Amino acid sequence: MRFKGKTVIVTGAARGIGLTVAKTFVSEGARVTVVDTDRKGREVAEALGRQGGGGALFMGADVSNAFAVDDAVRMTIQTLGSVDVLVNNAAISVAGSVLTVSPEDWRRVLEVNLTGAYLFSQACAPEMKERGGGVIINIASVQGLAAEQDNAAYIASKGGLIALTRSMALDLAPLNIRVNVLCPGAIATEKVKETLVGYPDPEQARRDWADLHALRRLGRPEEVAQAALFLASEEAAFITGAILPVDGGMLASFGMAGRPLE
Ligand code: NAD
Repeated sequence: MRFKGKTVIVTGAARGIGLTVAKTFVSEGARVTVVDTDRKGREVAEALGRQGGGGALFMGADVSNAFAVDDAVRMTIQTLGSVDVLVNNAAISVAGSVLTVSPEDWRRVLEVNLTGAYLFSQACAPEMKERGGGVIINIASVQGLAAEQDNAAYIASKGGLIALTRSMALDLAPLNIRVNVLCPGAIATEKVKETLVGYPDPEQARRDWADLHALRRLGRPEEVAQAALFLASEEAAFITGAILPVDGGMLASFGMAGRPLE
């Protein structure tokens, strides 16, 4: 019960990694606000409320809408009492290279993945300052540090989020707010399963993806959630501005998960 009496906002928590992060904090006694555009977030918050912890709230907010973000933070403080931890997790991706991605898609991906984190951080920081400190955890991706083809907007947004993490770590340190970023490899969420189904041979594609990681498997949402829990905990009190891959060793190699060329 390391987070008893603490309030955590998790964006994009209606499913996937965000949902698992929210559940994990609740299992440690936290109150949680589930922020998502997907109305399924309401059922998620109700279930989390029944799970225990200190209660859960659903805010049907788009992270790129400044008014909705302010409202979500205000309602969290009013209903759950504070904001101690913010997890900026909501994201979208639209395939396309710099040659093919439309300006509308480019802007939308940057607005959700990068501007959303800026808006939520800006809205939460004054409350955290008031309470003597807080923690912000951004969920970026290995794709913020290394690129694949045909994913320009997402890659730029995640690289931007990593740079924003460093910048916020410096600017918010005087307020005792720590800011860190997690970079997951391929994690077996619904979204990844939906993507794999689009391949001619989904099972082979899954094995190929697994083989990109030194540990030769996809990650589990729980493994990202445990890293978030650690970064939010007192055990990580001297860690800020850090970039933590949760990637089964994907970034440790030049490519091909370190296998020799055949
Ligand atoms: P997901 O698509 O399953 O879940 C994202 C959630 O965010 C959804 O519930 C969606 O409704 C919500 N969302 C989308 N746009 C929103 C908006 N404008 N406002 C509020 N909510 C919004 O994704 P996931 O696989 O669980 O990934 C979660 C995070 O982890 C993302 O930041 C993603 O980029 C990152 N990540 C995932 C993987 C992976 O393999 N799954 C790998 C690296 C990084």
